[in-house]
Amino acid sequence: MNKKESDKLISSLLQYWYAQHKRSLPWRETKAPYVVWISEIILQQTRVNQGNDYFLRFIERFPDIKSLAEASEDDVLKIWQGLGYYSRARNLYTAAKQVMEKFDGVFPSSYSDILSLKGVGEYTAAAVASIVYNLPYPVVDGNVFRVLSRLFTIETPIDSTIGKKYFNEIAQSILDEQHPGDHNQAIMEFGALVCTPKQPKCTECPLQSVCLAFEKKNVLNYPVKKGKTIQKERFFNYFHIEQNGYTYVKKRDNSDVWKNLYEFPLIETEEQNDLLKLQENSGFSNLFHSVGEIYFQHKLRLKHILSHRIIHADFYRVELGQYNIFDIEKKFIKIKSASLFEYPVSRLIHKYLEII
Ligand code: SF4
Repeated sequence: MNKKESDKLISSLLQYWYAQHKRSLPWRETKAPYVVWISEIILQQTRVNQGNDYFLRFIERFPDIKSLAEASEDDVLKIWQGLGYYSRARNLYTAAKQVMEKFDGVFPSSYSDILSLKGVGEYTAAAVASIVYNLPYPVVDGNVFRVLSRLFTIETPIDSTIGKKYFNEIAQSILDEQHPGDHNQAIMEFGALVCTPKQPKCTECPLQSVCLAFEKKNVLNYPVKKGKTIQKERFFNYFHIEQNGYTYVKKRDNSDVWKNLYEFPLIETEEQNDLLKLQENSGFSNLFHSVGEIYFQHKLRLKHILSHRIIHADFYRVELGQYNIFDIEKKFIKIKSASLFEYPVSRLIHKYLEII
């Protein structure tokens, strides 16, 4: 069998397997570009089970591009709350406005136009272009890296520039150009259900006869990675202020994590501090100067793991009397404590609110 025949066989086996084993998922029932796009964005960095509920809620709340573009960003973030990687939600919102303004409200149909939308990278553009418009662009996500690296025992690290280019070429060469959408969905589903990271189901795999890693009995050596992600530790100290049924929050407005989500007044420190040590921090006197009696209570310590960071968070309940003069009003928004749940917040703050 020559290379071309072998590539064709791989795609046929994948698509045959997919036709019989694909999971029934709501976004697979349509080829509407808006729906496919939303599902692809949600499924980046999110497992299908978790993504499913968010997808249904999102589509119910924003059934089309127009409703998304006309919503408020707070509404979009609120629906997204808990899903993580909030830049995806902010980008969806910006892209919806782009479609309304630049493409007269009609989702673009060429690869380059899809790629021009905010938050859409090569993977998402290839997925939407192939699934919706049958255009011959291969997808390369974590599942595809794994499957290809094992099938062809590729030693090039997947987290290198050269590796990304190389895997893209291999993905292109095995792509069924007549049925690129089915092919792409098949290989991703196969990676998610059969050729899994830790316990691939090699004994029941339809690609066993063409898989080099299986033949060499070194399946778990693939994919090859250059380096591990280093997780930075950060230390957050939150102050949940109570004053006659009101509290204070602020929208995160920097390019850091959780941009545009709301949070309590925060002091970030270099290491874990207790209250005594915190009181020596200049951030503390900036927050709480010119007030009378304040009562602090340490409520909770939570550890929150993100892809590149581990956040250690201490939460303090702060009680202020009715007549305290409080400088914090200039820097934070005063809201009714009872309305806290209406604001989009990080999963960490949500967890705290559920526990207390
Ligand atoms: S034989 Fe194993 S490693 Fe090879 S493609 Fe199948 S599941 Fe993946």
